[in-house]
Amino acid sequence: MDPPSPPHNIVIVGAGIAGIACALALSHELSPFVPGLKITVYERHDILSTSGGAINLTPVAQRHLALLGVLDELERMGSDGGAEVNAVELFSMRSGRSLGSIDFVDHDGNGFGGYKGRRVMRIALSVAMMTVVERTPHINIIFGKKVVGGEELGDQAVVHFQDGSEAIADLVLGCDGAHSAVRNRWVDPDSPSQYTGMSFLQANIPSDSLSSPIHFQSAALNISRHGSLLTSFCDRDREQIFAAAIVQFDQGELSSYRLEPGQDWATQNRIRRALRSEMRDRFSKSAMPCIREMVNSSADWMLYPVYQVRPGGQWYAPRDESASYALDDAILFARILARYRSEPLSEVFDVYERLRRDTINRAFKESRRMWDRNRDMGLLECRLTEWMTPFYLRSHREERESAWEFDATKIMLPTPTPSEDLVTLHSFLKEHTV
Ligand SMILES: Cc1cc2nc3c(=O)[nH]c(=O)nc-3n(C[C@H](O)[C@H](O)[C@H](O)COP(=O)(O)OP(=O)(O)OC[C@H]3O[C@@H](n4cnc5c(N)ncnc54)[C@H](O)[C@@H]3O)c2cc1C
Repeated sequence: MDPPSPPHNIVIVGAGIAGIACALALSHELSPFVPGLKITVYERHDILSTSGGAINLTPVAQRHLALLGVLDELERMGSDGGAEVNAVELFSMRSGRSLGSIDFVDHDGNGFGGYKGRRVMRIALSVAMMTVVERTPHINIIFGKKVVGGEELGDQAVVHFQDGSEAIADLVLGCDGAHSAVRNRWVDPDSPSQYTGMSFLQANIPSDSLSSPIHFQSAALNISRHGSLLTSFCDRDREQIFAAAIVQFDQGELSSYRLEPGQDWATQNRIRRALRSEMRDRFSKSAMPCIREMVNSSADWMLYPVYQVRPGGQWYAPRDESASYALDDAILFARILARYRSEPLSEVFDVYERLRRDTINRAFKESRRMWDRNRDMGLLECRLTEWMTPFYLRSHREERESAWEFDATKIMLPTPTPSEDLVTLHSFLKEHTV
């Protein structure tokens, strides 16, 4: 029997960070072995999404973006390519006291394996990724195609679109985010995503609109009883500060605080006022004058509810390293697929699961702790958190720093077990060799 041939017609659903990274990594790893390789990414929006504020890239995310050729594109964008982040400093909003920092540089100020942190607007990252896609052979991105389901027919998969059309593929990868149609309507319909009870309220604030001194170098997480406020420069020239409050928010109230396309002017105005007042109620007593200024400004805050998904039985909510996990996964999966190209796809997914499951479970636990730390707290609980934070940061420093060294290209892949044909050939040669 012939060994299975590697998939050459691959469909990726979703042109977010995960989808585009998968397409780039698969093209890189498979093209030397798979003649006629065709990777098609279907994205439901008509254009790249501009929403989502700024994203933090860890040293690992930067290393993997460099591998995919995206970091060079970000550098070429100049100031819009993002602000270098040496550390996220933690502060108590109550007292203004420094509680420590999450460092992206070592004691000598060098990045890990050459990479520090970076805060960049999501749209800038997407544009940089698209620029690399445009010059990469084999990849085609089709916008305005919303996937609504799919089915397996023998060795092939059929993807169904909202417009009634369909696509056939040897392999389909669902990279369609928290409310994934591939997961919810096809692979795991019994585990729809759930609201975590936490939301982001975020805005961009021009630095020169603030007259008080800025209390952080490049980025800070300011902790309070009523949630945390992340403040970070997000462009190289430090003209913009990205501010994102991580707060507990009742599910029932979400609909009255969300700005949606098609809302009339009066509704939008009411929501904007309500969000400003929410920010003031929570943070206007901050000990840091620049935070008081930010929350009393006329900034337009946007609400982003945070959802958790359940891959492989564990609920998982995003965290400030999630983009990095998406990039690790893309590179690792592409390597496994290339190495196991003559094995059944079930074997590929088995190896991937074995290599990744522990890491993902650990990330799950940490993300749950992170979200819990930002729920509304009593006075005493908040004091305790402030006391414990420096200790927590110190005791996890080594673990964090070794995590920054992670490189998905260096993970040892197990060797595929020889297929029956090869075993037979091997025994034949052995029998016939003197
Ligand atoms: C408020 C917030 C702040 C965050 N901050 C950070 C941070 O600072 N650092 C970090 O590392 N991570 C952060 N994360 C997590 C990070 O955003 C995610 O890990 C990352 O975006 C995941 O990328 P993705 O490609 O899997 O999903 P997404 O970015 O959600 O992309 C999914 C894509 O699929 C498309 N799509 C969806 N459904 C369909 C369909 N049916 N058919 C076709 N296309 C579809 C969508 O339009 C979208 O383009 C944050 C998350 C949130 C919610």
